[in-house]
This record gives sequence, C-alpha cells and structure tokens, in this order.
Amino acid sequence: MAELLIRPRREVTRGPLMGDPGALGRFGEYGGRYVPESLIGACREVEDAFREAWADPGFRGQLDRLLTTYAGRPTPLTPALNLSTELGSTLLLKREDLAHTGSHKINNVLGQALLARRMGRTRLIAETGAGQHGVATATAAALLGLRATVFMGAHDIERQGLNVFRMRMLGAEVVPVHTGARTLKDATSEAMRHWVGATEEAHYCMGSVLGPAPYPWMVREFQRVIGDEARRQCAAELRAAVPDYVVACVGGGSNAAGTFAGFVDTPARLVGVEADGGASASRGRLGVLHGVRSMFLQDDDGQVAEAHSIAAGLDYPGIGPEHAHLRDLGRARYVTVTDDEAVAAATRLARTEGIIPALESAHALAWVLRGGIPAGSTVLVTLSGRGDKDLGAL
Ligand SMILES: *Cc1c(COP(=O)(O)O)cnc(C)c1O
Repeated sequence: MAELLIRPRREVTRGPLMGDPGALGRFGEYGGRYVPESLIGACREVEDAFREAWADPGFRGQLDRLLTTYAGRPTPLTPALNLSTELGSTLLLKREDLAHTGSHKINNVLGQALLARRMGRTRLIAETGAGQHGVATATAAALLGLRATVFMGAHDIERQGLNVFRMRMLGAEVVPVHTGARTLKDATSEAMRHWVGATEEAHYCMGSVLGPAPYPWMVREFQRVIGDEARRQCAAELRAAVPDYVVACVGGGSNAAGTFAGFVDTPARLVGVEADGGASASRGRLGVLHGVRSMFLQDDDGQVAEAHSIAAGLDYPGIGPEHAHLRDLGRARYVTVTDDEAVAAATRLARTEGIIPALESAHALAWVLRGGIPAGSTVLVTLSGRGDKDLGAL
C-alpha cells in the first residue's frame, strides 16, 4: 500500500463523538478509504453488510450469545484494593485478560467472523504481529466453520513460536512474510495484497481500529462492549458512577477505543498510553498506510518507520484515525511510557493483586503509577490481556 505524506486538510465533523462516521468513514481529517480500485467494492460490501447487521437485533443477539456463552463476558471489574491503598486513589481494573484467548481481541474477531458468515464468505484473512490477533482469528474460524489464513512476519514467527503453534493447532494456515523488516507492517501489506485476489470467498479480518473504512468504525463498535460493560459496572461500584480517569493502552487503539466509547459522553478524562518506541499519537505525522489516513511514525522522506516496544502488541507505527481526531479535539490525551516502566508496573500488579498483566496493558497501569493523578481520584484501567505470553521477555 502507498506510504506517502499528505498535507493536513480541515473538515467539519457532525454528530456525536464516537458515533457513525458516515459513508466516507472520516474522523475529522483522518480515516477514509485509500485502497487500490480493486478493493473499493469489497470495502463497500463489508460496510453495507456491517451497517445492516449492526441494526439487526438477530445479529446482535447472536453475537451477545457468543460473547456470553463462549468468550466469558461480561468480564469482571476488579477493585484493586491493595494497590488503591498504596496509591491513595480508587483503582478499578476492567479484566479483558479473563476473556477467552486471553485478551480483548476475541470481541472483535467473533463479530467479524459472524459478519463474514452472514456475507457468505468461507475464509478469514488476517495479519498478526505477536500472534494474539492471529490466535483469536483462528479460534473464531474454528468455532464458526471458516478457514483462516494468517499472515505473519518471518521475524515474528521466530520470536513467537508458541502462538504459531496455537494457530496451527486450531487449524489455521500461517503464511510467513519475508519482505521489509518481516514484522507486523509487512504482514499487513501482504495480507491486504492477498485479499485483492480473494474478495469473493474471503473476509479481511482487521485486528485493530485501522485500515480502510469501515474497519476503524466497525472494530470500535465490536470493542464497545468493553466500555459499555465498564460503564454499568462503575455505576454499581462508584458513588460518583463515572470514574475521574479512564485509561487504556494504545497499539492500533482498539481496546482503548472500545473503552473510551463507553465514557466519551461523560466528564471522565480519557487517557491513551502508548509505548515510548511506538508513540504515533505523540510523535507521528499525517500519512496514509494500509488504506487509512492517520498519524504514523515516519522518517524525513515520509517512509513509515519501525516501532519498537517490549510489548509486541504496541509495535505498530500508527494509531487509529479516531484516536488522532480525539487528540486534535482535546477529548482524549495520549501519553507515553517506557519499556522499563511497563515491566515495573507488571511486576507491581503481580505482587500486590496477584494478576500478571500483558506488557501492553502494563503500559496503561504504569502511567497511573507514575503519580501524576491527584490523590483521592477514581481511575478505571483496562487490562487488555494476560501476561503469560510475555514471561519469556522479562
Ligand atoms: C493486540 C493487543 C494490544 C494492542 O492492540 P489495540 O488495538 O491497541 O488494543 C494491547 N493489548 C493486548 C493484550 C493485545 O493483545
């Protein structure tokens, strides 16, 4: 896909925040559908099918039932009592680590797999970095009787043997990508290229709030369940009903978008936490990659740069277009955390609460632990996943 620099252009956005971005799929000056001619029709078909399905109580009921009986929803809201005492604030954890396959990714994938079947598709195509989205895709495909083809950088395949083994055990085909740095960015380019020749039989199952319209909107809607549940759970837990801070880590931004969607219409301060080496919201520039106009890490020639983080899920050099828009509006702020801070936060949560979080999720917690939050605050942190996969990296 094209990697190029584009000058900012101001556009008016109507409607409520985190609503339907409309047929152009725009979030302020971000979003859109920058794909080859041959994929425009396929993206439109996905959009039409999603619009119809999302308005259909039958589809919503089917998805809710899978989320409940299969994926383990609703996930608990855990008051972190020991850590709260140490911090002098009230810390609540939204436990996506307890969802099936160990992260929030299953929410999105079950939605897209059901949609694919509704569209008469027989196969899912996905990209994966560390393998978490690949495993979730392989899982949903197995459950719903679809084939799965997962593109993964050859370098990531070497680093993430266990997830490759899991995907193959679940019956997915894992395709090694040998181009570029042989990581997530290259796997995504290759997967989209492959989709061009297979749009009749296959649905592209994007793993975050990225890619051409309707993906950023659709993936956010499938992840909205995190924020909607947390909103109800906070109302039962907190005297003020809504926390002062709502904090989530941001790779592409799907767990954060799903969490924020439940609180965007409240006074809660929304904070997205990026890895220091993947800080696209903080240090990125406007560009187009993988079909979407957003903020990307780039060199002086506009070539997309590599992201680096100890948390493989934060290793993507861009953020979803809606996050870029929320940042511009000042509705959410985006901060960064170093590898060392994330590791320290993961260890502290393990020792105080008996929960080993994914290193991605530990970024969100690390920002809270830094101490910038006034004492007495109420803070919701989304724990996007569990840490078993990271134990080898510590
Ligand atoms: C994939 C992943 C992330 C990053 O993805 P987002 O789209 O930013 O949510 C974060 N945490 C975990 C556990 C992941 O697997």
